[in-house]
Amino acid sequence: MRNIDTIYIDGAFITPQGEERSSLFNPATEERIGTVRLADARDVDTAVAAAKRAFSGMARTSKAERIAMLKRLSAVVAARSDDLVATMTEEYGAPAIFTSFAVPHAASVFLDMAETLEGYQFRRTIGRAEVEMRASGIAAAITPWNSNYGFICSKLATAIAAGTTIVIKPSEMSALQTQLLLQCLHEAGLPRGVFNIVNGIGSVAGAALSAHPDIAKISFTGSTASGRAILAAAAQTIKRVTLELGGKSPTIILDDADLDRTIPQVLMTGFGNSGQACIDGTRILVPERRLDEILERLKAAGAAMKVGPANDPGVQIGPMVSLKQWERVQSYIRLGQEEGATLLIGGEGRPDHLDRGWFVRPTIFTGVTNQMRIAREEIFGPVLCVISYRDEAEAIAIANDTDYGLAAYVQSSDPERARRVAGQLEAGRVAINGAPHEPLAPFGGFKQSGIGREFGPFGLEAFLEPRAIIT
Ligand code: NAD
Repeated sequence: MRNIDTIYIDGAFITPQGEERSSLFNPATEERIGTVRLADARDVDTAVAAAKRAFSGMARTSKAERIAMLKRLSAVVAARSDDLVATMTEEYGAPAIFTSFAVPHAASVFLDMAETLEGYQFRRTIGRAEVEMRASGIAAAITPWNSNYGFICSKLATAIAAGTTIVIKPSEMSALQTQLLLQCLHEAGLPRGVFNIVNGIGSVAGAALSAHPDIAKISFTGSTASGRAILAAAAQTIKRVTLELGGKSPTIILDDADLDRTIPQVLMTGFGNSGQACIDGTRILVPERRLDEILERLKAAGAAMKVGPANDPGVQIGPMVSLKQWERVQSYIRLGQEEGATLLIGGEGRPDHLDRGWFVRPTIFTGVTNQMRIAREEIFGPVLCVISYRDEAEAIAIANDTDYGLAAYVQSSDPERARRVAGQLEAGRVAINGAPHEPLAPFGGFKQSGIGREFGPFGLEAFLEPRAIIT
């Protein structure tokens, strides 16, 4: 049992005033492995006060100083990669297929932001105006459990590049990971108060941050429901907000797709991060004339996917993060059957070969219509819907008929055709024939998938405010 008893404020690990605790679990074994002492609104006030004291110093730093900080942060995270993987595996259950991306990503986002900063013009002349980009003010970040290190590091990197200070509230379910990451970040020796991290629950610490009058900017990643609450709270003081929310992303398999290449990619993007990724392509749009062939292949390849604990390096799908999440996914698998969809693979319950852990049977529904709740609501587990379409126009219409607009995927053997289809999809990121990573490209959603963009110059500008001086 490990008890996390501290939060990080003003460059030091301190005991929070909040006294409540919540439990931490290993989702692969269901064992309780620790507790975390939760910060409350008083701790948020202390953290914001520290960030406020450090703000003017940080705002005055040069580009070169910020780049040096980003490089130090990257190095201290990279130096503990093995420990970071081990803790993420234990507390989140992520298999190697995910940790092998997520941990290097947490170190590289600092370098990516350093590169963005290097090329960014903070001053430009527009007509008679001298326009200067300045930090909006003290920032807050609120992050989820499904890639804890990455979200903390990317938001911290952006704050530093913008020359602002930040208070970060990660998910209380990731406290062991946060504690280890904090030990790394502390090693970078940044000035006191530049970043402050408080463990706490959303309705207490998160709500206090969202409403805090001294916070000018909130960068949130999490569910659309929480995003709405944060936006409403932020409205009271007209905070700037970046919201990275949920998704129900379509994968359009065009009728000329090479299925040998397509099917593994469709499953990889559908079941990515054990189905717990906002960008997963969970609606698979299949041409009617190739439906039988595609179903046969999805069934064979889907059933062969390995589910289990992360200590088996061949595992592709790990457990759900919590019992609550497992039950939620089960309820959607039940709902799909009640709505009249057919199970191609999977179903309720745990996979037969596993006797414990919050594991879900990878599930693919066929006979799904885009009006069913399983096709409209984010499930956040390894559950995919196959929806058939008659022609390209109908595929595009179904893909866009959603409240979300985070990601979309197109599979085709004809690059021009794929681009033409991609250009008609209402999503912040459209990937053709796979999911290539482009770290400096803007990331974020249309519609209820969010507001604003992260990464690269678009992400940096979301923490900045233009000021025009006209002579
Ligand atoms: P969540 O919304 O429950 O929690 C996210 C964070 O918000 C946590 O730190 C939580 O404590 C906090 N929070 C909750 N209610 C709050 C409130 N009222 N005020 C302030 N803070 C509050 O989300 P989750 O279950 O941790 O994560 C899964 C969700 O995140 C999914 O919907 C997923 O799509 C989304 N997500 C989006 C992206 C993206 O970039 N678009 C990336 C990853 C996850």
